[in-house]
Amino acid sequence: MFYIIGPRGSGKTTIGKQLAEYKGYQFVDTDKLILERAGKSIAEIVEQHGWDYFRQLESDVLQSIKQDNVIVSTGGGIILAEENQRVMRDNGTVVYLNANPNVLVQRLAAEPQADQRPSLTGKSLLAEIEEVMQQREPIYRATAHHVIDATQPVEVIVQQLKDLI
Ligand code: ADP
Ligand code: MG
Repeated sequence: MFYIIGPRGSGKTTIGKQLAEYKGYQFVDTDKLILERAGKSIAEIVEQHGWDYFRQLESDVLQSIKQDNVIVSTGGGIILAEENQRVMRDNGTVVYLNANPNVLVQRLAAEPQADQRPSLTGKSLLAEIEEVMQQREPIYRATAHHVIDATQPVEVIVQQLKDLI
């Protein structure tokens, strides 16, 4: 199992799909699995049931992925639960796609419709990302076996990950 972690916009879905295609592995996106299982969007889940409920669904989904030869792209907050950190480290290789907040904002602003996560704080996107990254950066690093510079071109990142698998 190969897990890709990192914040919104770091390229987890983009990179994960290409890597899976190249390796002939299955591609799984935890946010997409949650959406399919719940039958509603993440925004709706959070609005109707709260973040804690969403986080529990996320842990359940993560632990339900048991097949070999899978590339798993995760939600940005998956590392918040210690249980999830352990599950990923015990079951495979964890890669952190690292990018600074300015790059993340540029990418998210370029396609706002793809950013369906409700705001965590109600602040501007840059302020929110800076605040969230300050909290999460050490956790991403501690959870990952490998840290990859996610500001490189997609094909360069995919090549680096091919060499790791
Ligand atoms: P995530 O799944 O981590 O939220 P996505 O894969 O959805 O991130 O990528 C967010 C946006 O950034 C998309 O528009 C994608 O095309 C773009 N993107 C991803 N990786 C790169 C990269 N290395 N360089 C430039 N743009 C990228
Ligand atoms: Mg994604």
